[in-house]
Amino acid sequence: MTEIAAIADAINQGASGEDLAALPLPEAYRAAFVKDDEVDMWEGVASEDKDPRKSLHVDDVPLPEIAPDEAVVAVMASAINFNTVWTSIFEPLPTFGFLKRLGKESVWGARHDLPYHIVGSDAAGVVLRTGSAVRNWKPGDRVTIHCNHVDDQDPTAHDDSMLAANQRIWGFETNFGSLADLTVVKANQLMPKPKHLTWEEAACNALCNSTSYRMIVSQHAGDMKQGEAVLIWGATGGIGGYAVQYVLNGGGVPVGVVSSPERAELLHDMGCEHVIDRREKGYKFWKDEHTQDESEWRRLGKDIRALIGKDVEMVFEHPGRQTFGASVFVTARAGRIITCAATSGYMIEYDNRHLWMKLKRIVSSHFANYAEAWRANQALCDGTVQPLLSKVYPLEETGAAALTVHKNEAEGKVGVLCLAAEEGLGIDDPEFREQVGEDKITLFRRMG
Ligand code: NAP
Repeated sequence: MTEIAAIADAINQGASGEDLAALPLPEAYRAAFVKDDEVDMWEGVASEDKDPRKSLHVDDVPLPEIAPDEAVVAVMASAINFNTVWTSIFEPLPTFGFLKRLGKESVWGARHDLPYHIVGSDAAGVVLRTGSAVRNWKPGDRVTIHCNHVDDQDPTAHDDSMLAANQRIWGFETNFGSLADLTVVKANQLMPKPKHLTWEEAACNALCNSTSYRMIVSQHAGDMKQGEAVLIWGATGGIGGYAVQYVLNGGGVPVGVVSSPERAELLHDMGCEHVIDRREKGYKFWKDEHTQDESEWRRLGKDIRALIGKDVEMVFEHPGRQTFGASVFVTARAGRIITCAATSGYMIEYDNRHLWMKLKRIVSSHFANYAEAWRANQALCDGTVQPLLSKVYPLEETGAAALTVHKNEAEGKVGVLCLAAEEGLGIDDPEFREQVGEDKITLFRRMG
């Protein structure tokens, strides 16, 4: 039996932390990565035709030494995020530049500057080793991992760590990401695994769930009040699906936008009463590449008012160029547009008169600090927020999994099995699972 197989076997048999700590770590492990000698492979290819199956390789890579504040985690399951799509299509930039910059920062940072980039920013697994400075975690702990990689020696990290000068996203701006059998992370990325979820259900949340928590709930971004209405683009997508849940939990009124009747039905089943099918409505916010159509913004505004009888106080904005002008227009006087992304293009255009005359605010948001990620994880542990897992792929098919997200064919979250031998393992508290409700936890699986 290989060392990695022995580790997986021991975890599945419920081995103790001492037993896991005594097992030898392998010198190399299986991981999904892009290569720096392939960053020009897409020359002349349109974005939508770039196929992550060609650029994402799965093979053995050496296991690095860990720093005193780090841990080695056996990854039972991981998930695809949009950032893995960006890395695999080398847009808007190849991510090797991030690794080079990190490489110059310190001796430990230098480990990340490699000719391959192991991707992935979400995981559930088991701690195998901890560095000498780690206090709160030990081998055997079952964890999920958030992706905020922060240097706590940087003073700018001590107000809100998302403001840290060298804040990075693990597995996107750092190496040794989660789409692998093992991963190396800072101890302050670890959080307890929700006991009632399977490995793959537990693995799919942290990045999107924490992002949406900050955007909707946190005083650093949305700070939503009870009764406020929120327009949520991509409301059954990765971040949108968690946003809907936070708006409902906080006593707000979500207006979810999706692009198919199946997605609209899913939203209704989540308890989101007000739904707009943007494909059915056929909004055309841009007349051509350079000109927007204000009458189409007005049509969206009217459709929202017809549903909820008022304008939305907040917009959950991430499609970017395609929707931003409309988002600014439909926001109520003194409302806010919370933005964390620009999937359809980052050169944004909106009519500034609608912003300043009605005292609206555009608020930027990016991932979440440890406290926010912890609270978002706690909501999962408490069963008040549900995972959005729709489909699961094996690690060897990471490229195919990323392609479904790239093509907007995936619902909610797409999982990836790493060391977990099959789906359905890892539930430690079946009674609480029953209490929360199998149908609620697995709602998105019917779309897989
Ligand atoms: P996702 O799972 O693919 O969901 C995105 C949703 O957006 C889709 O389901 C789609 O829904 C909708 N959409 C796509 N193109 C659109 C368009 N042109 N107009 C209107 N709606 C459109 O992706 P995700 O994980 O939610 O991520 C969304 C974006 O946020 C990505 O760019 C990602 O990189 C970014 N992100 C940023 C952070 C951060 O911390 N800054 C964190 C997470 C994600 P319908 O087709 O059903 O309308």
